[in-house]
Amino acid sequence: MNFSEEQIERYSRHIILSDLGVEGQEKILNGKVLIIGTGGLGAPVALYLAAAGVGTIGLVDADNVELSNLQRQVIHFTPDIGKPKVLSAQEKIYSINPDVKVISYQVRVHSGNIAGIIKDFDFIIDGTDNFAAKFLINDACVFAAKPFSHGGILRFDGQAMTYLPGAACYRCIFDSPPPKGAVPTCSQAGILGSVAGMLGTIQATEALKFLIGKGELLLNRLLIFNALDMKFRQVEFKRNPHCPVCGNNPTIKELIDEELPACDLKNQPKLPRAKASPGEAEVDTERPSYPSAS
Ligand code: ZN
Repeated sequence: MNFSEEQIERYSRHIILSDLGVEGQEKILNGKVLIIGTGGLGAPVALYLAAAGVGTIGLVDADNVELSNLQRQVIHFTPDIGKPKVLSAQEKIYSINPDVKVISYQVRVHSGNIAGIIKDFDFIIDGTDNFAAKFLINDACVFAAKPFSHGGILRFDGQAMTYLPGAACYRCIFDSPPPKGAVPTCSQAGILGSVAGMLGTIQATEALKFLIGKGELLLNRLLIFNALDMKFRQVEFKRNPHCPVCGNNPTIKELIDEELPACDLKNQPKLPRAKASPGEAEVDTERPSYPSAS
């Protein structure tokens, strides 16, 4: 690939990075990343991946921009209210970086369409706000051997993990969605806007590290932070041989549409099978273990 003068200048702060360089920037420009959900998580992910020069960015979102989104979904502006989110996000991406090609899907992912949507992408970002989508994305990525980044946020909390084939999947940690009514959403419990940005930029960073092939991804560990006390910790996991989707005798052999959990604040679930990693604090089971919404 021959960089134009403009590209050399645009990406100069990447190119001078010793672990990235011209070679890494080429990989980013050839990269294809799908962002499912262009809300609180997807917005910062899309902005940073566009700025970084990810060559193809896929956007999946069925919703239109609403006034209440603007407190955290930083890719959408006030004049965008009422516009499809994928269109609003696409306009900003093109405005940031003409090197990027955007492929938009103004749909909700379900068991019938997700395999076809993810198949041409190198890395998937789960920026969705509900458990049905999170488990569906996990299962579809496990079946298709696609790397993905899971992200969840709620109130002042965030969590992230990255999946590559062979590593622990989301169902190795949480084998099924929480019981109906167990976990609130952001619209019920609230979310500090900047927490969405913190988690989204972690997901964008994982995608870029994957594309350039450098560093240690968040594999077999769940990164958890609370922004109120600004403490980060990690819970380490192994691939679970009894996992219903990636285990040795899987019980889930095709994609399923989980029922959307209704939400209230009672009965917060604990983090199943979590072990505190050496040197880390014990798992705090009092805290919501299922941040999910964006
Ligand atoms: Zn698994």
